[in-house]
Parts: sequence; C-alpha cells; structure tokens
Amino acid sequence: MESKKIWLSIAQMGGSEQQYINDAFEKNWVTPLGPNVTGFEKDIESFLNQECHVVALSSGTAAIHLALIQLGIGAGDEVICQSFTFSASANPIVYQCAMPIFVDSEIDTWNISPILLEKAILDRKMKTGKYPKAIIIVDLYGMPVKMDEILIIASQYNIPIIEDAAEALGSEYKGRKCGTFGAFGVLSFNGNKIITTSGGGALICKRAEQAKETVFLATQAKENRPYYYHEKIGYNYRLSNICAGIGRGQMEVLPQFLSRRREINSLYSELFADVEGVYVMQCRDKMFNSNYWLTCIIIDDTVLGVTVNDIRLYLDSVDIESRLLWKPLHMQPVFDSCPAYIDGTSERLFRNGLCLPSSPALTNKDVEKVVTELKKYICDKGTEKLSRQVGLTSINEIKHI
Ligand SMILES: *Cc1c(COP(=O)(O)O)cnc(C)c1O
Repeated sequence: MESKKIWLSIAQMGGSEQQYINDAFEKNWVTPLGPNVTGFEKDIESFLNQECHVVALSSGTAAIHLALIQLGIGAGDEVICQSFTFSASANPIVYQCAMPIFVDSEIDTWNISPILLEKAILDRKMKTGKYPKAIIIVDLYGMPVKMDEILIIASQYNIPIIEDAAEALGSEYKGRKCGTFGAFGVLSFNGNKIITTSGGGALICKRAEQAKETVFLATQAKENRPYYYHEKIGYNYRLSNICAGIGRGQMEVLPQFLSRRREINSLYSELFADVEGVYVMQCRDKMFNSNYWLTCIIIDDTVLGVTVNDIRLYLDSVDIESRLLWKPLHMQPVFDSCPAYIDGTSERLFRNGLCLPSSPALTNKDVEKVVTELKKYICDKGTEKLSRQVGLTSINEIKHI
C-alpha cells in the first residue's frame, strides 16, 4: 500500500476554477480588475447574507492594514489586539507606527477575554489619558469570539472593532456570519485557509463609501484627474482578476468544504471520546458555530506523560503533519515592548495544544489513522513511564504482567 503524507490543511480545487481563469485569458482580463473580481466580491457578499460591501485584496494582512488606515490609526495611537493569534493580526498596527496592546483569551472560545479587554481599556486610559483607538478581535481556528460581551464593551467606550475572520469564513455567531460584526471584517484566501485564491484576502465594509475608499487606497490612491495626482499615500493591494477566478470556483464548493471540516471535527471528537487526557476543542453551545478550520486538541501532559511537541514529532515520523497552536504575540520577541493584559490562559493553551490535520480532502480513514497513531504513541509512552516507575527496563516484560 502506498503511504501518502497527511497534511494539516491544504488547498483543494472544486472544478470550475480553471474555467474562470480561461475566461479571463480569452477576454484578455489579465489585470488587477475585471469581471472575476466583481463576481467574486458579489459571491462573498451574498454568502455573508448581511448588509455589507466586500473588497477583494491581495491578502488578509492588507485588509487589516486598510481597515486601520480608514479608522485613522497613526503614530502615537494604541490598538488593542487579541494576543492569541497569528502575527499578521498585529503587524499592520506597527506598519501604521501605532502601538499594539495585547489582551489574553478566555477559555471557552480561546478568544479575547471580555474581562481583560475592559481592564486594558481602563488601564490605558489611566496611563496615557487616551482610550485605545481600535480593537482587533480574532475568530481563532474558526471559533467565533464572544460577540455579545465584546460588542457591549466596545460600544460603551465607543471604540471600533476590526474582526479578523481570516480563519472563520462560514463560521457563525447566533446565526450571523463571522466577519460582519465589527466596523470592518477581514478574510484571508491564503493557501491553507478555508478557500484559497492562491493568496488573497478581503475587507468587509459596512458602507459603500468605505468600500470605494478601500478600492481607492488599494490601487495607489489615484485622484480623479487626467494625469496621476496624489493627495494620499496609496497601496498596491488589489486582488488580480486571475486570482479572483480561482476564488469564484472555490465559492461554488465552499458549502461542501465547510461541512467536511465540521464532519472531520465530529469524527475526531468521537474517536478521542474514550481517551483520558485528550480534549477536542468544541463549540461551547449553540450560539457558536465554528467552521472548524483546524481541529485542535488540548492534552493533559500530567496524565499522558508526553508533551504536545513529542506528539508532533512522532506524528511527523509517520507522515502526519500537525502543528503547535499559535504562540501568543505577547511572548514574541518582536513585540517585547508592547503592553499586555494577560492571565496565563493563552500561554497554557500554547503549552498543551495541537492542531490536527483538517483538510476537507481527508478521508475518514485518514482521520482514523491520525487518531490510531496518536493513541498508539500515548499508550507506548505511558507504558514506558510505568515501566520506569516499577523498575523494569523491557516494555515486553511489562506487557506480560
Ligand atoms: C492567515 C491569517 C491572517 C493573514 O492573512 P494573509 O492572507 O495570509 O495575509 C491574518 N490573521 C489570521 C488570524 C490568519 O490566520
């Protein structure tokens, strides 16, 4: 039997992507604008099913950057950002010469803690005399943030929210799609996300003028004159018509991708149900509907006697890719000097968490293999530990007891 590597999360084509690209070639729309871009944006808008205007961009990072610019973030400003996330959530704050303020997670969703958020807002006001100018929340691994609690706090202090839903396309909170909760929402179509354009992103805007301004900034901020004339600094951030063609094809199969990721999560939960010391991250209740971009587990290393990195290395040796959780940004050397409001939650999750293969292309057999290998490793290690405890050297001997 040929063994193939089981990957964490890889792109899968739906079928009609090539057709959209061919159309673009035939009509010579090999440009950073064109019918695929507009079509892709409309597809996303109708999928989100909420009054909004979507602008397709070259990356999710670019989308966060343009959101910050439109919220007027600049030198001397502070922006709160969930600490437990990928660095791309916070980097654009620094592009704008503003200061990231990191806030820890709560344990139910692994996302920004309402208690620490309010604490951070009040403490910044006390220390600097100003409120933070924006809040970046992240629906990590597809799990929606505790929106009700967070939105109440944000509106109480009148601070706009940027919802980084880069990992959460298709996730819902109380039936409403992630990406539509803040002043701006962000999506990513990088190769490992829910859908891909081989690299790309989108900014979800509330109002048509904001979408217009986003397009303007993303296409070098050219003023409407017969010659090139600039009043603002512009960016080259628009998605190309070719990449958007891939996106249109992907939107056709998005519902299948979503249901498969969710199925994979349920299968993992079932298969791990009888394993003490392994907990599969799940939605807390019916208000939350994660897309389960990646299925994550938390292990109790005191029960299992192994670390998540031991498990990762073992899985890698049997051709299974897994990954440690995001290392919180307040622990990253590059953000050493940023204030952080932390209670240890994300550090504990980082120490004990692992992402398991979750690509929609995985078969049930693949998922079973991941679980079987993981159980086998834990079992062997547990036996080894026991054998050390009773002073035996051979694992074979202990199996005979
Ligand atoms: C992937 C990702 C981004 C960045 O998106 P790109 O399209 O890769 O620039 C931002 N935030 C989070 C949480 C992500 O996972």
